[in-house]
Amino acid sequence: MPLLVMKFGGTSVADLDRIRNAAAKVQREVERGHDVIVIVSAMSGKTNELVGWVEKTSPLFDAREYDAVVSSGENVTAGLMALTLQEMGVPARSWQGWQVPINTTAQHSAARFVDIPRGNLDQKFAEGFRVAVVAGFQGLAPDGRITTLGRGGSDTTAVAFAAAFDAERCDIYTDVDGIYTTDPRITSKARKLDRIAFEEMLELASLGAKVLQTRSVELAMRYKVRLRVLSSFEDTTEDSGTLVCDEGEIMESKVVNGVAYSREEAKITLVTVEDRPGISAGIFAPLADAGVNVDMIVQNISEKNFEHHQGSVTDMTFSVPINQVDRAKRAMEQARAAGTVSYDELIVDTEVAKVSVVGIGMRSHAGVAARMFKALAEENINIKVIATSEIKISVLIDRKYMELAVQALHDAFGLEAA
Ligand code: ADP
Ligand code: ASP
Ligand code: MG
Repeated sequence: MPLLVMKFGGTSVADLDRIRNAAAKVQREVERGHDVIVIVSAMSGKTNELVGWVEKTSPLFDAREYDAVVSSGENVTAGLMALTLQEMGVPARSWQGWQVPINTTAQHSAARFVDIPRGNLDQKFAEGFRVAVVAGFQGLAPDGRITTLGRGGSDTTAVAFAAAFDAERCDIYTDVDGIYTTDPRITSKARKLDRIAFEEMLELASLGAKVLQTRSVELAMRYKVRLRVLSSFEDTTEDSGTLVCDEGEIMESKVVNGVAYSREEAKITLVTVEDRPGISAGIFAPLADAGVNVDMIVQNISEKNFEHHQGSVTDMTFSVPINQVDRAKRAMEQARAAGTVSYDELIVDTEVAKVSVVGIGMRSHAGVAARMFKALAEENINIKVIATSEIKISVLIDRKYMELAVQALHDAFGLEAA
């Protein structure tokens, strides 16, 4: 039988009524002749609560136990979804990650798929079960312990199952009716896209657009999964939502197709760093070893250079996820104590946000950066750090201007109009 993957996010399974609503959508697909693999998130807010409990219990927690705790939200919704389907007369069975098994790397809290053997689920489908409800976000490490895939990881579970089971499509049901030019919660001018290219969605996701986890887009691109985002609160048809697809399947495209933002940024500056070969390696190697994800980097001439005419010193500024600031600070302090890094002062700014514009058209159009900076200047928004790649430009700004910046850029690049 043709097989569909249907994923329901936290708000879509937030209570028993919503689980029933989601189950009705699954039932409809079963009646249309599909076998269905349903991937569920934890009820909305649950994973945050679990993470909070872990952090309160042990600030520098053991990642294995973090995974043991935070993976549990999905177990509840998987069981409840299977029960709801059974009540509706649909033969369904729930699966936790280890039961499938969903084999992952041992990288706790950020594990990656190794493989998903089909045998167990295929056997159940052969026995007449029409739906497998799989707990998203979790997997099994080689040593038998539970892993999780990083926040938002249920999207990636869904795409991985779609690839492993050759699904017709992977439908991501959520609380918006598709992928927009920017987060519709930030501006009512955001426009829903019928289609978006994998590359653009990949950038938007990695730059903060939470609608899909970055890894899920990466996997869909690699395994040619037809990936669709649509509303779990509306009646949907074959054409609903937004299809993430190859660039070649998209007729019309602008230079910039989306604006993304991330609140969860912090800026760290090491003041008065020596300016000689090996210094950058000396700083970023211990950060990498400590598992800190450094994003933007700038090296700039220290004010002190001018004050004292010392020469050969610079400041090093970089951005990290806000929840990794303590980890980064500790890594730098240890490196300084060990004598492998020297700096006068470490300054942390946690009141920053990153705003980015994304578009594959940038490959062949000049002047995007100038337009972006002009739009921000007109709103009197100061740019602290800039980073560019082939199809994106990102700036770090004061967090209090984040929404204003998103709105200004959405206007400046004419994203409202189709
Ligand atoms: P789920 O719980 O279903 O996984 P998420 O909260 O992870 O849902 O993702 C959906 C949210 O993503 C939306 O509510 C919306 O606020 C946000 N979002 C951010 N950027 C975009 C965008 N470009 N298009 C649509 N939604 C976006
Ligand atoms: N429940 C997990 C989270 O909140 C995974 C997910 O919903 O995708 O991050
Ligand atoms: Mg999500």
